Amino acid sequence: MSPQLALVIHTEEEFDWNGGFHPKNVAATHAPILAGWVKKLAEEGFPVTLALDYPFTASEDGKMALAALSHLPSSLLEIATHLHPWVSPPLRSEDAVCEADTYPGNLPYDEEKAKLAELTTLISDITGQVPTTYLAGRYGIGENSHRILSELGYNTDLSVSPYCDFRHQSGPDFSGYCARSFFDERYGIASHPHTVGLVSWLAPLATWLNANPERYHQFSNELAGKVMLKLAGVKRWRLSPEGFSLKQMQKLTLQLLASGQQTFILSFHSPSVVPGFTPYVQTEQDLTRFKSETEAYLRWFRDTLKGSCRVAGALEPDTYLAPKPLPMSGAEV
Ligand SMILES: [Zn+2]
Repeated sequence: MSPQLALVIHTEEEFDWNGGFHPKNVAATHAPILAGWVKKLAEEGFPVTLALDYPFTASEDGKMALAALSHLPSSLLEIATHLHPWVSPPLRSEDAVCEADTYPGNLPYDEEKAKLAELTTLISDITGQVPTTYLAGRYGIGENSHRILSELGYNTDLSVSPYCDFRHQSGPDFSGYCARSFFDERYGIASHPHTVGLVSWLAPLATWLNANPERYHQFSNELAGKVMLKLAGVKRWRLSPEGFSLKQMQKLTLQLLASGQQTFILSFHSPSVVPGFTPYVQTEQDLTRFKSETEAYLRWFRDTLKGSCRVAGALEPDTYLAPKPLPMSGAEV
């Protein structure tokens, strides 16, 4: 099997990343620019998975952008779902939402399901396509999420963010997860984690840690372990042009390939296509680098690694590990 890659765009409204979570943030003025770039990528043969959230899909800008992409075949454009609970109806109130409730998996079963059902209906109505791939807002899956996904007709989940522990902000704990895919047999959900991995100048150590995420977590929590990780220059990187260079994305990919990883998710947030909308792209120069390095990475993956670029829902299941149980709900409130 050759390595396979899905480009997944968290397609969402613009908001101040340090300004809390308020239902009034619903603008998606970047949508036409995003559509232009997605079209260009598709013309080069690179498939894109747009994980759409409620404000983006409901906005006039979002609707026009989606209409402009509607001619693309499903092999080049997948319409998926991205749930930001604080802007996705039914809303409890018009006030800002506390941090614990920004993770869909922390909500009561009925509320998480109602929001996802309403979002699924909106996306189906606007695009004419019924989504079967899901990405939780803030990677926030919980103990009910896969059951709800199954009940609403989904079969693929992209929400795991390996090695990351968000419990300090009431989010899920993924510290026992590596980036390998797994299958939740209870509900028939294929889980392809976002690609996060460990790199080090001591490559065999990184290879071993990538295959044993629980040991990385253990070392990170012990003084001697922390010193060892620091001396070995172990770093946790995400496969994303947001905060990572082309060289870093390539190094991470090669390290994970050496660890046996075959499935990769390259991701970013849609507002990054306009300078100033996310912390990662502040200037025109940032944007030029962001786009050119994303495209260069895709070409490198396809042409140099001889990899296969697909939409997320078409990733092959060959690399599944044994199933891991949910939940990872970390709400300690
Ligand atoms: Zn999001």
